[in-house]
Amino acid sequence: MIHRTWDTIVIGAGAAGLSAAQALGRSLRGTLVIDAGSPRNRFASHMHNVLGLDGTPPAELLARGRAEAERYGVAFREGSVLAVRDRPADEGSGSPARVLVELDGGDTLEARSLVVATGIADELPPIRGLARHWGTGVLHCPYCHGWEVRGRRLAVITTSPLGMHQARLLRQWTEDLTVFTAGLGELSDEARREFAARGVRLVPDPVTEVVAGDGAGIAAVRTASDEFAVDAIFTASALVPHDGFLAELALDRAETPMGSFIAVDPTGRTSHPRVWAAGNVVAPAATVPVAMGAGAMAGAAVNAVLVEEDFALAAGGPTGA
Ligand SMILES: Cc1cc2nc3c(=O)[nH]c(=O)nc-3n(C[C@H](O)[C@H](O)[C@H](O)COP(=O)(O)OP(=O)(O)OC[C@H]3O[C@@H](n4cnc5c(N)ncnc54)[C@H](O)[C@@H]3O)c2cc1C
Repeated sequence: MIHRTWDTIVIGAGAAGLSAAQALGRSLRGTLVIDAGSPRNRFASHMHNVLGLDGTPPAELLARGRAEAERYGVAFREGSVLAVRDRPADEGSGSPARVLVELDGGDTLEARSLVVATGIADELPPIRGLARHWGTGVLHCPYCHGWEVRGRRLAVITTSPLGMHQARLLRQWTEDLTVFTAGLGELSDEARREFAARGVRLVPDPVTEVVAGDGAGIAAVRTASDEFAVDAIFTASALVPHDGFLAELALDRAETPMGSFIAVDPTGRTSHPRVWAAGNVVAPAATVPVAMGAGAMAGAAVNAVLVEEDFALAAGGPTGA
């Protein structure tokens, strides 16, 4: 049973969702944030390259963001959204279109608009010993963690031809770089020459294991025939957006080298007139500040559309889809 129509439901309380919620709360919009509680960077102890918050624990940023949003009247609810459906306008009663949000536990909520900020899942390469170091000794983003391991013995374990970019990038942070090239496919002579000229070691054999050190750190990368001592590893996960619950809306998608993502315009608006999306769920390369910016933009864009709808409703005119 529907008890209330929210102006906006924000799905996901990471950097993107909380920024959208803050913008909407400060716009006096009845806003509910629903969150499953698993932000992508929960494996890392500290965030970097986040202006004004460098070195802050990820959970601290989210707690502060939530407290700020609550100050502006935003409501929060724990849970997972299982599905989103359209509720078309009812011309008989004059009721405009809505979106219906189905939660685990069985409740269905109703909103005039939706901001999807559910992030992505990182599917890690299936290498023995790798997953336990994700976010500590196994990293993906040199802008987030490169400074902390600069000058150390670094490895890049490539997982696809896109790994070429990461392999070249990491040379900026160390002169002691080993690239495990099995994921790259056949290397051109030119690529080999360039790596050699920059003093980068290339190892073609597939990696079989990440070997832990005595403490919590990494000791080595192992192949079938050899072992290479390293201090940290960079690699790329397969990126899986948390957007399956939107299937029924059949939103337009963008096919990118990093995968298939819901298509959005610069304000985060999807092909559905009442649904916006922001952060990693639509922009896999977005870091925390980029996700925050996208969320703030989506929040303002939602409010602008609701303002127009408020005028149209008051004047008895059409209210869009
Ligand atoms: C190990 C690691 C370290 C990182 N370090 C940094 C760093 O130092 N600096 C930096 O700028 N970036 C860093 N990042 C990137 C950072 O994690 C992302 O940029 C950021 O989390 C994106 O925010 P978001 O709001 O889009 O998604 P998220 O932060 O992932 O938030 C999404 C939220 O939505 C919830 N959710 C998902 N599905 C549902 C559903 N169906 N119903 C309800 N809720 C749902 C999730 O539980 C989660 O709470 C790191 C990433 C990783 C993996």
